[in-house]
Amino acid sequence: MALTDTKFREDDRSLDQTLRPKSWDEYIGQELIKKNLKILIQAAQERGEPIEHLLFYGPPGLGKTTLAHLISRELNAQVKVTSGPAIEKVGDLASILTNLSAGDILFIDEAHRLNKLIEEILYPALESRSLDIVIGKGPSARTIQLELPPFTLIAATTRIALLSSPLRSRFSGGTYRLDFYTEDEIRKIITRSAKILGIDIDEGATAEIAKRSRFTPRVANRLLKRCRDFAQVEKSNLITGDLALKTLDLLEIDPVGLESTDRMILEAIISKFGGGPVGLQTLAAATSEEKETIEEVYEPYLMRSGFVERTPRGRVATRRAYEHLGRNFAEQSTFLA
Ligand code: ADP
Repeated sequence: MALTDTKFREDDRSLDQTLRPKSWDEYIGQELIKKNLKILIQAAQERGEPIEHLLFYGPPGLGKTTLAHLISRELNAQVKVTSGPAIEKVGDLASILTNLSAGDILFIDEAHRLNKLIEEILYPALESRSLDIVIGKGPSARTIQLELPPFTLIAATTRIALLSSPLRSRFSGGTYRLDFYTEDEIRKIITRSAKILGIDIDEGATAEIAKRSRFTPRVANRLLKRCRDFAQVEKSNLITGDLALKTLDLLEIDPVGLESTDRMILEAIISKFGGGPVGLQTLAAATSEEKETIEEVYEPYLMRSGFVERTPRGRVATRRAYEHLGRNFAEQSTFLA
């Protein structure tokens, strides 16, 4: 099972909650976003108003949900958590909205998966805090308008391009892109997590895990946990560099953090499509992966690390990809000369 696999979700959820930063100081990195949010919060508090609606976007595991929880902590606000696919019917949204109290934060994860009908109900709710509900059917149907308490929506998405532009424009508090972390930041996150999990880890191991964590806190925490398991069966209470390397090898994570699926994707672009360009749909079919998974989970890191480039005609494997797989770049047929 790959580390990016969604089957990790359950396991992750409890891990996420244990390790989730509870203050701005514990939330490492993303300095500019933190600075902006702190100002937003202070200004709103001074005015005695709820903060304006916020949108966070970026690849999974970078800390969007954590930010939403941190903000509600700062504001002493209650946070109600839901997600795009969980709101199936207009009635679902109506019941969520009408159950909000003044000052509450509504967090909608995977906002790009909200259906269009729901989005349309959401616009007036965000803009003028009113909810239009149709009661009854046919000629006797009538619309009633409910007033909602002042609340803040925080939405998170991995796919901002899929959000309709009217919805995007409703986030008056700002739209923030979370970026990958630096290796140094990931090392700090690992050190903090190890302390919370009550396991000793040496510098070599911290560096090895950081190097292979896809610059992503969630992945770093997962890897740390796997190393802890390995240490435990080895009857050791210290994760050494050597033990970390053995664990990472067992997980088939290579020195630059690629896992088997990443390598399979690169291999497919190179072997089956002469290095590309190849369309996402075709690539998905060739690797038996979901198109969305490639786009949301694998590709951002492959691009960030310079293994893949996205061109108008499709995905292209770079020289670095060829070299990493031990292939001859001169083999490539077309695009990148
Ligand atoms: P997302 O919502 O973007 O998928 P999460 O907010 O659920 O990501 O973060 C995943 C896990 O990574 C969290 O439980 C937390 O432990 C860790 N994490 C994320 N961002 C940070 C950070 N800036 N500092 C420390 N830990 C973090």
